[in-house]
Amino acid sequence: MRYVSTRGRAPALDFEGAMLSGLARDGGLYVPERLPASTPRDLAALAGLTYEEAAFRVMRPFVGDAFDDDAFRGLVEAAYADFGHAARAPLVQVGENDWILELHHGPTLAFKDFAMQLIGRLFEAALSRAGRRATIVGATSGDTGSAAIEAFRGNAAVDVFVLYPQGRVSEVQRRQMTTPPEDNVHAVAVEGDFDDCQALVKAMFNDFEFRDAVNLAAVNSINWARVLAQTVYYFTSAVALGAPYRSISYCVPTGNFGDVYAGYVARRMGLPIERLVVATNRNDILHRTIQSGDHRRAGVAPTTSPSMDIQVSSNFERLLFDLADRDGGRVDDLMRELREAGGFRLSNAMHARLREDFDSGMATDDDVAATIAAMLDVAGQVIDPHTACGVKAASDARGDPATPMVVLGTAHAAKFPDAVEAACGVRPALPERLADLYQRAERVLQAPNDLAEIETIIKERTRA
Ligand SMILES: *Cc1c(COP(=O)(O)O)cnc(C)c1O
Repeated sequence: MRYVSTRGRAPALDFEGAMLSGLARDGGLYVPERLPASTPRDLAALAGLTYEEAAFRVMRPFVGDAFDDDAFRGLVEAAYADFGHAARAPLVQVGENDWILELHHGPTLAFKDFAMQLIGRLFEAALSRAGRRATIVGATSGDTGSAAIEAFRGNAAVDVFVLYPQGRVSEVQRRQMTTPPEDNVHAVAVEGDFDDCQALVKAMFNDFEFRDAVNLAAVNSINWARVLAQTVYYFTSAVALGAPYRSISYCVPTGNFGDVYAGYVARRMGLPIERLVVATNRNDILHRTIQSGDHRRAGVAPTTSPSMDIQVSSNFERLLFDLADRDGGRVDDLMRELREAGGFRLSNAMHARLREDFDSGMATDDDVAATIAAMLDVAGQVIDPHTACGVKAASDARGDPATPMVVLGTAHAAKFPDAVEAACGVRPALPERLADLYQRAERVLQAPNDLAEIETIIKERTRA
């Protein structure tokens, strides 16, 4: 399978090339030239398989000859072996036809482990057979960074630097990034917000001299392999609820548009997804885009769901590419307008197509608190603030009650104990394997919001 850039001017790559480079050299994101189709018979055959076997079958066509069947199967099995639930992504029923897909049973208690645990192994296998090393730099609003550091700690082929906005991640998120003692992983606290961190990472990728000097790679949600790993749980959950014989709706708490874009990919591959609801917090650029067709940045406001405090939604570019009939020049123009004028308006035709695929909803911090309390009251479930944004948007956008509505449960409540306790009076406890997190020693690098200084920090420490 070949991967092409959304801006149309970078060379097409195979799976390994697209995975290792992350961002294309023309500033675009890699997407498959063509998506493989899953027939109803393929979908029906997923019923009853282990998560790992289903994952192998869904992802296999995308990987091409980067790995043979046995190698790829082994990496997939290793990726999910340490998850704290036999189903990996269990469904919990919370209403008559309403479900939460729990994606928080991985080592850092958020859905990002699904992709990161796999990517860590894919990188190590690809780099070490080529005798290469890489430097991974990522920006995080909290969960990506902890998942990346957890996935790559001790990795023989990779050094990892994670930039996070100082003071804007939860204490559990911070400690998950700052407590691993391995010297190939580094947490960098930046004086700025998440969008600043993300802009710094993008700038490093556009500094080709630096990029080549440290063999830079990205595992942010712009990395195609992450999107791919996240399509899997749409397949397993839909099949568990009756696909291909009936359609399922999903509501996805969204920041960088990675997780919900994975749902869109699953639907384009043939999974019968009826509605795909984008849920945002008050940082609602995507909700506004879907409702009005106007994609325009506003300031980032801190909320109780910090992993969604984002106004530059990187993966949205992948959708734009489809909305623009895969015209990379058109996407390039729109992205320039976003950079230079702070936003752009979709044509009526593009907006109409967007509305065909997506619905949306928004939750304020008050909505989130009320939803957490109601979920405990009605279903006996303690949910985290991000998941609560999804539950709120799902109930606002609920279509046909005969169609199951699945909200992606993106994090464990114990990652955000203060907000959860304030909302419902219950302080969620960390699972056993993380119980001593508050006692572990922290290690963190401080940096100003300055590209040159951060590049120096990285050059001094990387072994690539
Ligand atoms: C990252 C994250 C999100 C947003 O996911 P995107 O793929 O960036 O849209 C939502 N909830 C939690 C808990 C997250 O960590």
